[in-house]
Amino acid sequence: MSNKPIQPERPDRRGVMFVVSSPSGAGKTTLTRRMLKEMNGVELSISATTREMRPDEKDGVHYYFKTREEFERLIEEDELLEWAEVFGNYYGTPRGEVERLQRKGTDVLFDVDWQGARVLKQVMPGDVVSVFILPPSISELKSRLEGRPGANPDAVMQRLSGAGRDIKRWGEYDFVIINDDIEIAYDELCAILVTERLDRRKPSQGARVDKLLDDAEALES
Ligand code: ADP
Ligand code: 5GP
Repeated sequence: MSNKPIQPERPDRRGVMFVVSSPSGAGKTTLTRRMLKEMNGVELSISATTREMRPDEKDGVHYYFKTREEFERLIEEDELLEWAEVFGNYYGTPRGEVERLQRKGTDVLFDVDWQGARVLKQVMPGDVVSVFILPPSISELKSRLEGRPGANPDAVMQRLSGAGRDIKRWGEYDFVIINDDIEIAYDELCAILVTERLDRRKPSQGARVDKLLDDAEALES
């Protein structure tokens, strides 16, 4: 894993790095896809992966689907900001994606596991806000995994047996949402991003107030 920081090219608006993780099946994709559709100013960091495409997915939209050889080349060439092996497949964040979105001053949504969340926080500590989404119960998690398009029993068992290992990481996140009622969970997720955007300590807020002060001073003189 690489530790090179990303330099923003638009210092007036530094996007929030909005990192969302969950045990597989808890509803993170459902929640984040809706957020990307309904909220302005936030875009997905599209990860690269070696896993098979699901029926409702598109290459270059949900993931960049790669062979293992292609993915290993990305690692060797230091093209990934972070990467991890999850359920026997590689997943990683292409560095270019984050640079592209940072340049635009857009908030960037990262759908990564706890390993990715940890590295992103190390690389961009001031920019990352992390949210962990949990299911209301393990039996509900099982039925959500079984009900997902393209589900097969082996993948369901593999993901379910990894849930405890993921849930143990909850203390590393800034916020935790229990996704029981989808509407409530969605409102909570949006509220976190909105709050982060308004944080006085964010450089973008400072730039806006500086502009007000400049204009106020110009009036005084
Ligand atoms: P993840 O991305 O965390 O693996 P998904 O978003 O793919 O999970 O959700 C898994 C399944 O659970 C999907 O079929 C989704 O429609 C369903 N689901 C998500 N949230 C809820 C919820 N609050 N109540 C009931 N079903 C849900
Ligand atoms: P899925 O196969 O269900 O889309 O994702 C499986 C897991 O891989 C999820 O926990 C998801 O957050 C994680 N994941 C997806 N993309 C990345 C990535 O770029 N980096 C890391 N570390 N994990 C990722």
